[in-house]
Formats: sequence, C-alpha cells, structure tokens
Amino acid sequence: MMSRVGVGEASTTRPVVVLVGAAGAGKGTQASILAAELGYRHLATGDLFRSALRDRTVLGEQARVYMERGDLVPDELAIGLVAEALADQSAAGGVILDGFPRTAAQARALEIILAAGGDQISRVVAIDVSEADLVARLSGRWSCPACGTPYHLVYDPPRQPGICNNDGTALTQREDDRVEVVRARLTKQIPPMREVIAHYRAADLLSVVDGSLPIDEVTAAIRAEVGA
Ligand SMILES: [Zn+2]
Repeated sequence: MMSRVGVGEASTTRPVVVLVGAAGAGKGTQASILAAELGYRHLATGDLFRSALRDRTVLGEQARVYMERGDLVPDELAIGLVAEALADQSAAGGVILDGFPRTAAQARALEIILAAGGDQISRVVAIDVSEADLVARLSGRWSCPACGTPYHLVYDPPRQPGICNNDGTALTQREDDRVEVVRARLTKQIPPMREVIAHYRAADLLSVVDGSLPIDEVTAAIRAEVGA
C-alpha cells in the first residue's frame, strides 16, 4: 500500500460520482438534489470559478484573464481548481462533480488527481437528453419588454403564442437564448462531451439515465445507478 501524505483518517474511500450532460440536461439540478439527499459535497466548476475570482486566488486571477476576454478557461486551470477542491478531505460523505470533466484530457487528469488523494471514481452517470429537447429547453425563455413577466415556451407558455398575458405586448428574447445561439453553443459542447462519455464507457464506469423524465424520476434513476 502506498503512503498517502496528508490524507489521514479520510483514507477510507469516499464515493466520487461524476455527472455528465450538456447544458440544459439538468446536471446542476440533479447534483444539488443528490448532494442534499446523500450528504455529498457538490463540486460545480462554475461555482469554483466564481469563488476563486471573488477570493482573488492565484488560479482565480489566472482564470480572470480568459473570462474577461470571453475565452474558455484552459484545461490546466480547470484541473487546478478541481484538484484544490478535491484535496479538501473535510468533504464528508462523498463528492458529486458537476461540469467536470468536460474533455477527455480533463477526464485523464481527474484520474491522476483522485489517485493522488487515495480516491477513485465510483460511477459516472450521463444524463441523456436529445439535442432537440436541449434546444427547446435552452431557447424557451422569453419575456415581456413592457411588464417584465418571464415565460418559457415549454414550461410556462403564454396563453397566446408570443404575446404577454398581462398587456398583449409582443414577447422578446435575450440574444443568448436565441435558437441559433443555443445551437451553436451545443455544437461546440457536444463533441468533447461524447469523448468524455466514450472514455468512461471504455473504463466500464458509465451509466446512462433518461434525462427527459420528470426531475424526481431522474434523481431516482441516478441513485439506482450510483447504488445510494
Ligand atoms: Zn407584459
């Protein structure tokens, strides 16, 4: 058995669950529900970046340069942030990773980081939602420019298509929510995600759940796959 400096009493293996899914698949929602139900720590890379920026850590300052330019943060920085967070062994029952790894390179790095801390991935769950459904979910937000009421074409549609219930004003949409913009974002995101999924399928760690089901059924399906 190799020695693990600094790991101490946390050397019993804690569950480490990775959730994989495109934007709009419900990954963040599921991670947060599962973390609460199972007493795991929810590690969302978006949150890690926000707190690193707020606390002006070294990694945060390096990431800031990319984020202010509107560029993707490079793998090394994302990996560094996740490594820092995982080194915190105070994280009780287990860990749920949400938003990492996003690339096959990040997936390989994650294995090294985990092994260094005496951890390993217990299960990877891909939340599967068709591209058409993702586009509908992500591009469904409209609002009324007159009274500000938000609508969603799938979850909370106005009574008359495109018209505010309150004042009859034509609804408008944010640039980021437009179908073309959402499609372009997904087109960039999905190929590296498929590589991550293939990586974990090859490692025999992958489960796939149907993300088109209601939220509580998706949660139950993930728990069944994770064995928790
Ligand atoms: Zn209105």
